[in-house]
Amino acid sequence: MKIGVLKGNGIGPEITAATIRVVDALGLDIEWVNIPIAEEAVALYGHPVPGEAIQMLKDVKVAIKGPISVEKGKGRVTCYHEDGSEYVYPSFNNAIRRELKLFVCQRPTRGIPGISGDHENMNVVIMRELTEDVYSAIEHRIGDVAAECVKLVTREAAERIARYGFEYARKHNRKKVTCVHKANAISITDGFFLECFRRVAAEYPDIESDDYFVDATTVYLLKKPEMFDVIVTTNQYGDILSDLCAGLMGSLGLGAGANIGFDGAVFEAAHGSAPDIAGMGIANPTSLILSAVQMLHYIGEDRSADLLEEAVRSVLIEGACKTRDLGGSASTEEYTAAVIDRVRQLMEAAK
Ligand code: NAD
Repeated sequence: MKIGVLKGNGIGPEITAATIRVVDALGLDIEWVNIPIAEEAVALYGHPVPGEAIQMLKDVKVAIKGPISVEKGKGRVTCYHEDGSEYVYPSFNNAIRRELKLFVCQRPTRGIPGISGDHENMNVVIMRELTEDVYSAIEHRIGDVAAECVKLVTREAAERIARYGFEYARKHNRKKVTCVHKANAISITDGFFLECFRRVAAEYPDIESDDYFVDATTVYLLKKPEMFDVIVTTNQYGDILSDLCAGLMGSLGLGAGANIGFDGAVFEAAHGSAPDIAGMGIANPTSLILSAVQMLHYIGEDRSADLLEEAVRSVLIEGACKTRDLGGSASTEEYTAAVIDRVRQLMEAAK
């Protein structure tokens, strides 16, 4: 099977290389296809998110992606389609997701004994709506006096993400789906998101549902994470809550993600390009390796996915080989080698 690789920048190339080595140790028949993006794409095609890269992604349908830096206040990018139409996106990352029509960012957060402290038993999956909200690039300056941004919520996208959350809950035997919003203060837009959620919830009487304000949710996640099972939320709240949950697990370097659409998916970590540690060989690749676990489930390789997750978790739980963000001293290389060793041991034991 062909799987795309968008290396990204910052720590992106380091964690994508580590992830490819770990997945290769599973012995699956995978051909990795480099897809140029950001600087690499500018050098080749004169555009950071060129039509050529989007077409390659559409052809392979499944890809892993390293994070891409976005300059503060300068992230907007215009993509051009063959029919002459132009689409403006707020960032390169958003452009890739939207050009591929990826509508949900699925971010599982499972605590790790010995690493996650009070959050060892946390087991929450965040479903972040990916196509709308304040990341629609509908914003403009009003001279030097103001700037304005539109928060977009459509019934189609709000019901789609809610339905995705409930279907996921049913399939994975999850008990409850929670809508997170701010419908007290943003009563019309977030109120509409909640209304759509409740309409869909009524179709799933077998699954419990409730809702909380996003501000209160941050404290509940901190104090009582067991209140949550599956969370369905808007683009911006999902962005923020996913980083919070990764931090509660122990490090941003543990936060995995899957951007899924109707005809393909891109698997990437919850964090950014970590320019402060780029090139130092100390990044924690767990985030992207656990994203690859989701990828393996997505392509139907459930046994390999479960084995890889067990390998990662057992190395982390044992604690002898941890990267610096988790309080250890292992390099990316040493940690990757430890995970590969464990994959091989588990494969041998399973024979
Ligand atoms: P960041 O997530 O890159 O880093 C925040 C902190 O977490 C840093 O101290 C970093 O060293 C640490 N960290 C992150 N991932 C780590 C890992 N795997 N191992 C060890 N430590 C890790 O956030 P930021 O600094 O706000 O953003 C940096 C750049 O990334 C920005 O340009 C931003 O726009 C971009 N970004 C990209 C994506 C994406 O590609 N999907 C997502 C978020 C941010």
